[in-house]
Amino acid sequence: MFQENLGDVNLVNVFSMFVLWITLIIVTSFLIKKAKLKKFYQILILIISVIIGGIILGANPNPVNPIQQLFLLLRGNSIFTPMLIIFGLLLLSTLVIGRIFCGYACPVGAIQELCSKINFKSNLKEQENVKVALKTNQKWANLIRWIFFIFTGIVSIIWGLAVLQILSPFRGYSHISNPLAVALIIPFIILVIVIILSIFIYRPWCRYLCPFGALASITSRFSRYKYVRTEDCTECGLCEKICPTQEAFRDSSKGECYECNRCREICPQNAIIFDKS
Ligand code: SF4
Ligand code: SF4
Repeated sequence: MFQENLGDVNLVNVFSMFVLWITLIIVTSFLIKKAKLKKFYQILILIISVIIGGIILGANPNPVNPIQQLFLLLRGNSIFTPMLIIFGLLLLSTLVIGRIFCGYACPVGAIQELCSKINFKSNLKEQENVKVALKTNQKWANLIRWIFFIFTGIVSIIWGLAVLQILSPFRGYSHISNPLAVALIIPFIILVIVIILSIFIYRPWCRYLCPFGALASITSRFSRYKYVRTEDCTECGLCEKICPTQEAFRDSSKGECYECNRCREICPQNAIIFDKS
């Protein structure tokens, strides 16, 4: 039930998206490593991700679809192997460079990051002038995300209902080029809700629901490269105040760090670098 779009990805789309993701990940990693990720480049990368990955390629493939396939595989359904390979590679990338994929290349992540710039500033004075920006507790967000992960797994495996397909904001992008497809209306509404919410809550889909985000938040804790403090740090605490996910503390795992660069931009000592952890 509701599984008709699961294998509905052609190889040209898979290849195009793969090339886009690799390009965005390499360019962003290079700019972050060299401390050259200016706001202009950030916004340009995010817009490219939304327009090409989201609107033109319809966010298909995406990092959530293979998880739905894996759930259904446990029920005995067949799977579309290229997407699973890409899924594995994306997860592997989080072991090396953390969540740069989530931060910049994922089209749903990118649109949320763009919207977050309205209320989640990288300057405390500007931040104080913001009327509504909800800093929500990451532990609760994590718990809700795992409950959703387990719920979708159980529903898929026991009843064969591809609930991740029904609720996926990724598929909402496909509605833009295919407005008559009834099955895409709910994903489109969810995408719109996610976009509006992300003005007030930092990355609501990623932090509260995304099943790939749940897995990546574990693997990226072991990432080789992370944002780390140098000995120039004076413990002023500015980075901790500005970080929207409570990950800027010296000993934090960085599992929920989207490499947004806010901590680095606010640091008066330039004491945050992207280096071996
Ligand atoms: S957490 Fe999910 S939706 Fe968010 S950026 Fe990562 S893969 Fe994309
Ligand atoms: S630790 Fe820095 S880069 Fe990571 S999410 Fe927080 S502010 Fe952004």
